[in-house]
Amino acid sequence: MTLLARILRFLFWLLVLSWSVRLLSRLFGSLPQNTAARQAGRNSAGNAQTSSVARRLVRDPVCGMHVDETLSIPMREGDEILHFCSIACRDAYVVGSKKFAAHG
Ligand SMILES: [Zn+2]
Repeated sequence: MTLLARILRFLFWLLVLSWSVRLLSRLFGSLPQNTAARQAGRNSAGNAQTSSVARRLVRDPVCGMHVDETLSIPMREGDEILHFCSIACRDAYVVGSKKFAAHG
């Protein structure tokens, strides 16, 4: 009689324990998975945006060559930023603008 009661009590607590463990693992297990999935989605979207921006081409005003903005040599001219394919082109532009100023 007491043995049967002990077995029943054991089975009852086993059931409660397994149920609570499952509930807790579902509560705490779902949170990091969701945030990780969200971050992964955000990262892939961000990468796509940055790669499209980095591939912007700019025109060299001296030789007319199209250069990747990230590889070009920028120079501030008033309000706008000019992009050159090389330092030689940039120097040529600076010398040309100085000549213009001297003559003009
Ligand atoms: Zn150039």
